[in-house]
Amino acid sequence: VSKEKGKNGYSFFNAELSQEKSRKMTIENALKKAIQRDQFILYYQPKVVLGTRKIIGMEALLRWRHPDLGWVSPVEFIPVAEETGQIVAIGEWVLEEACRQNKQWQDAGYPPLNISVNVSVLQFKHGKFLETVERILGKTGLDTRYLELEITESIMQNIKESKKILVSLQQMGIKISIDDFGTGYSSLHVLQKLPIDTLKIDKSFVDELDIDELNPMVKAIIDLGLNLDMTLVAEGIESENQMNVLIEHGCTIGQGYLFSKPVAPEDFEGLMQIPGMLAEELEHGIVR
Ligand code: C2E
Ligand code: MG
Ligand code: MG
Ligand code: MG
Repeated sequence: VSKEKGKNGYSFFNAELSQEKSRKMTIENALKKAIQRDQFILYYQPKVVLGTRKIIGMEALLRWRHPDLGWVSPVEFIPVAEETGQIVAIGEWVLEEACRQNKQWQDAGYPPLNISVNVSVLQFKHGKFLETVERILGKTGLDTRYLELEITESIMQNIKESKKILVSLQQMGIKISIDDFGTGYSSLHVLQKLPIDTLKIDKSFVDELDIDELNPMVKAIIDLGLNLDMTLVAEGIESENQMNVLIEHGCTIGQGYLFSKPVAPEDFEGLMQIPGMLAEELEHGIVR
């Protein structure tokens, strides 16, 4: 009996594996045509001042709708795109679309907001990243001070090269944010030597605040960032309680479903039209 069971277990495992493999291949192939077929769209999640909840910026988040597959989550397709190198072209599309949209809103008369764009390490280390950023900024006409790039801690694995790129970006007037901070490989020694403007506290730490309001890691990350003269942004805030504890700890900016999910461009524009929704004096104090 046990032999039979093992055999079944084995073939079940195999079937599951090959199913996973074929889904991945389907995605990989479909991704090749996604840009050209206009299947990508950027959603925007407001970044707000904790307490007043006024919008000071937004994060661009990629959405993909395939005619057969439906909506595919970036959590699923970004790793595939990274593995195949397709992320370079996709990331370029994202950056251009985000800059174009932000500039268009500014031209339409909305107060200027900072836009944050996620950049994959692969894209960042790709030889032509700086050139690409410069070209896109030139083409879209967006002022560099309204652009922030979100990069993960993995850039610290090759500091020498990363530092050069980061310094060039900083010299261009672009802000740099470390995304999902606290979940990856971070050398505190290196952190201090890089031109980083913002630390984004990963959602997993924000979640901890429901269990323990005095979570020492959250407090430590906030103090670290503040001591290094960085801006702290908390991600994935879902409750008033989380927001209040973050404020008590000294974190001033956040994102999360408590305020808004990522929304389609027309809905973000709708948010901007609500009286009193946008933070005033963006240039002085709140946003660096
Ligand atoms: P991320 O950059 O850390 O983005 C935050 C993710 O958390 C987003 O998921 C957002 O929708 C979600 N989120 C925000 N607030 C809440 C909340 O209160 N509760 C919960 N449960 N979730 C919240 P999304 O859009 O599915 O993106 C997932 C990840 O995919 C991103 O994590 C980022 O790593 C990657 N990604 C998305 N768009 C891009 C892109 O254009 N380029 C690259 N390279 N990566 C991207
Ligand atoms: Mg991000
Ligand atoms: Mg994040
Ligand atoms: Mg995250």
